[in-house]
Parts: sequence; C-alpha cells; structure tokens
Amino acid sequence: MQWKGRKFLLLKRIMQSAVGKKIGVLGLQGSIREHVAALRACGATVVEVLTAADLERVCGLIIPGGESTTISKLMRRAGLFDEVRARALNGMPVWGTCAGMILLAQGGESEMEPLALMDLEVERNAYGRQVDSFQESVLLELTEEVLFPAVFIRAPKVSRVGEGVKVLAKCGDSPIMCRQGNLLATSFHPELTDDRRVHEYFIQMCNG
Ligand code: GLN
Repeated sequence: MQWKGRKFLLLKRIMQSAVGKKIGVLGLQGSIREHVAALRACGATVVEVLTAADLERVCGLIIPGGESTTISKLMRRAGLFDEVRARALNGMPVWGTCAGMILLAQGGESEMEPLALMDLEVERNAYGRQVDSFQESVLLELTEEVLFPAVFIRAPKVSRVGEGVKVLAKCGDSPIMCRQGNLLATSFHPELTDDRRVHEYFIQMCNG
C-alpha cells in the first residue's frame, strides 16, 4: 500500500478510537456525576445515557450505585430496560456498581425487576445501613493484583456465584468484584475514591 493510503488508514484508526468510542453512564439515578468525572479523568469520552438513542452511541455502559428498585423502574419508563439487556447479551461491556451489581444479578425479590444478566445472587443491604458504611483496603485481581480502597454503602452481599463467573476480589469470605465475560460487577464504589484503576480496567474492557 502507498504511504498516503497507510497514513489515511492510521489517521482513521486514531480518529475512531478517540471519537468513535464513547462510554455511557446510565444517567437516571445515583452516583452518575462521580462516574462521569472518573471516566473523564481517564481520558474517556462520556455520554450520559437517558434514552435508547443515547445508548446507541456508546460502546460500554456503567450502571451507577443508587437505589436498584428506582433505577429498574426508571429504565422501564425510559424504554432502556430491554435495550440495555439486548446490547449486553450482544457483547456490550456493562459494569454495575452496588445498585448496578444488584441489577446485573439474578433477582429474588418481587418488587425489583433485575436485568438478570449475570449468574450471581445477591442479598441487598447485607452489610448494614447507611450509618454502617465503611472503607476497606482490598486486593483486586485486575490486569495485575492491586490494593484498592473499597467504599461500601448499603452494599449487596454476593450469596451465590455461578460457574462462569470469575471472582476478582473478596472482602472476608464474600466476593465483592465479579466478572462474567463482558459483564463486571462491584459491590463497592470506585467512583467515590480518587483511585481510577477500576475505571481504567473497564475502559480496557470497552476497547478490547
Ligand atoms: N442498597 C441499595 C439498593 O438496594 C444499593 C446501595 C448503593 O448503591 N450504594 O439498591
């Protein structure tokens, strides 16, 4: 190929990675701003996803912490519930933090409709109430092992992990970070710390 042609292809590839790849943060309820800021600090282009049209523009999605029942209902109302499910089943990377983890897991409770995308079961609020929130240094198995300041706020406890699910971190005996292919779930809140390594890990999942 001529140099001109190669230069064009190279330019095209750079433009696509910088402009084409947008990461979405579900913008309905919860720690939206914090995730947006963390992704931007990593150099990612971010879209707050409020509609199905927004979802079409992103190559990965974060479901923030908040209140899982509310987020589930608002996803239904916004016409996003089935769309997010379909995209995730099609391979789009999705990371759920805390309430987002509850949404990715299988449900057991009738009032909350989960996306039920991961082979995980969780018990809501099992670490206690808001006043029982805590931070603990935990070992995460990212591309390498790292010590991470994990913040827990009315966090879910993972009560069952399916065969296809890889546990990337534990707090005591309980899994707190799980990956199943294109799906990632953390019961803690990396967006509430200055440590961006889990966001970087997710961006890599989106670029991979
Ligand atoms: N307890 C909340 C729920 O059940 C989750 C809390 C959080 O996301 N920090 O949805």
